[in-house]
Amino acid sequence: GLLPSSWLLENALNLGSLIEILVLSLALAYRINELKQKDLVSQQQLIEQKEQLNAELQQRVETKTRELQNLADKLERESITDALTGLLNRRTFYPKLESELRRLQREPTQTLCLTLLDLDHFKALNDHYGHPAGDRVLENVSDLLQLHWKRSGDAVFRVGGEEFAILFYTRNLHTVSERLEAFRQALKTIPLPISPPPADGVPTQLTASLGVGLVSALYSLSPDELYAMADRALYSGKDRGRDCIHYCSATDRTPRPRLEHL
Ligand code: GH3
Ligand code: MG
Ligand code: MG
Repeated sequence: GLLPSSWLLENALNLGSLIEILVLSLALAYRINELKQKDLVSQQQLIEQKEQLNAELQQRVETKTRELQNLADKLERESITDALTGLLNRRTFYPKLESELRRLQREPTQTLCLTLLDLDHFKALNDHYGHPAGDRVLENVSDLLQLHWKRSGDAVFRVGGEEFAILFYTRNLHTVSERLEAFRQALKTIPLPISPPPADGVPTQLTASLGVGLVSALYSLSPDELYAMADRALYSGKDRGRDCIHYCSATDRTPRPRLEHL
């Protein structure tokens, strides 16, 4: 009875509860909002972390792919080259010979020359000066071959221990002997070790025997046939004292290639 009775006084409790509910609802909404915000932030962080991991993974995959590609290239190079000299090896020689013989059919003015080169008395040199010195000589021969046969269409191979093959084209047969003779003479300038001093049966100069097979587009020879021609010429050179060049060509106007020494 202290305060005069009024509507406000009579409903004060209800109003108080209503205000409390309102305040609590606002607090609850604020709290829910806050949690949602936090959730959004952590979701964003997760997405960023995921993207970063993806980028790192992609980077690693790219690096590994590059490494594998480099390794594959290296293996491919090693499988076609000779480890000591870096020249193309015997494995690549036959396919190349085959493809050049096919190419020759489209080049009516060209002659394809296959030269087989075998160092003379190399076993005696090797036994006398030692295998490492023999290896140096083989490397020098390879360098000289690459120096003399670097025109487009030229190719040099190591086809055996002290055996090499040269493939090249010519339109002028005179240049064949000129180029080969120049190489044969240059070979003699390759230095041999100075110790131990030369002994009986050990050559004092490096020489080689060369067998050349020549074929023009008029003939369709198989790789084996051209190889046999060059090989035959090589061994006729070996039989006739070494340090020489012998030739064998498929001559004109025969239904089958006829072998003939020039
Ligand atoms: P010819 O004049 O009849 O060709 O006689 P040669 O002694 O050259 O031939 P032979 O086939 O009897 O000997 C070849 C030698 O080449 C045998 C080996 O000592 C040597 N040789 C083969 N491969 C290598 C190599 O990779 N390194 C070295 N240092 N020597 C090799
Ligand atoms: Mg030999
Ligand atoms: Mg030899």
